[in-house]
Amino acid sequence: MNIVVCIKQVPSTTEVKINSETNTLVREGVESIINPFDTYAIEEGVRLKERFGGKVTILTMGPPQADIALKECIEVGADEGILVSDRAFAGSDTLATSYVLSKAIEKIGDYDLVISGKQTMDGDTGQVGPGIAQRLGIPFVAYVSRVDDISDGKMKAERMIDEGHEVVEAPVPCVMSVSKEINVPRLPSLRGKMKAKSAQLTVWSAQDLGIEDNKVGLAGSPTFVMQIFSPKRERQSEMLEGSSAEQVSALCDKLSEMKVV
Ligand SMILES: Cc1cc2nc3c(=O)[nH]c(=O)nc-3n(C[C@H](O)[C@H](O)[C@H](O)COP(=O)(O)OP(=O)(O)OC[C@H]3O[C@@H](n4cnc5c(N)ncnc54)[C@H](O)[C@@H]3O)c2cc1C
Repeated sequence: MNIVVCIKQVPSTTEVKINSETNTLVREGVESIINPFDTYAIEEGVRLKERFGGKVTILTMGPPQADIALKECIEVGADEGILVSDRAFAGSDTLATSYVLSKAIEKIGDYDLVISGKQTMDGDTGQVGPGIAQRLGIPFVAYVSRVDDISDGKMKAERMIDEGHEVVEAPVPCVMSVSKEINVPRLPSLRGKMKAKSAQLTVWSAQDLGIEDNKVGLAGSPTFVMQIFSPKRERQSEMLEGSSAEQVSALCDKLSEMKVV
């Protein structure tokens, strides 16, 4: 079974800055990590390989330094890493990102399952997984919390919904996003670290993928981030003094003074 896991490298902090000229994220000098939700996607890919055989290919679209994230994935059991990187991709929104990733998955060719994280820590839209499925013309199953079986061209899985869980069946190939309830990501093994050290990563540019320039970057993105700011905390708080009885009576007075709008 050929499993493709999409991961994104994100700033390790929420204190992110936007370059006011280009409206893109300032990544220079900011430590990057593998998007936390993607660590469950990587782990699930490796576990499915251990259950059903096959190989796990990690795919990421990002700046050249995203190769570090691919090596970290090989340390925990992935087999190959593909970095899709090109200056033309800078500022790509989810529509453009899903386009690039779907072109890369088409170039990989033989795939049975594409796994994504639930959402990223920075864009946080959850739109890329369904976007990839739409472009590849295959089903998307969101928030998978357990994979029961993959055989006879179908995947049987359990996914999280507001009311609890739902058991679904989908033809493969399909795309699934996983929830953090699905597994506990393993730590890197010594053997994994050795393998990652000598691993040859594949790097594809826009030209390698036959990308149409007007579909990527700021030009190919109907949405762009205008501003990032932490919302102001308007609520005031007041500590009530005295014994608990005094605090309760003071609280009752305050509540009775409040106007119900
Ligand atoms: C603060 C901020 C707000 C943003 N808001 C928007 C917005 O409202 N609309 C919009 O279109 N764009 C937005 N963007 C841009 C958006 O982050 C990028 O388009 C990004 O590449 C994908 O969107 P996402 O981060 O929301 O990913 P999500 O859709 O949340 O990611 C879901 C999953 O898709 C996979 N994935 C996502 N990105 C990649 C990648 N580069 N390589 C490989 N796999 C990947 C991962 O498995 C991930 O867990 C925003 C960016 C920032 C920094």
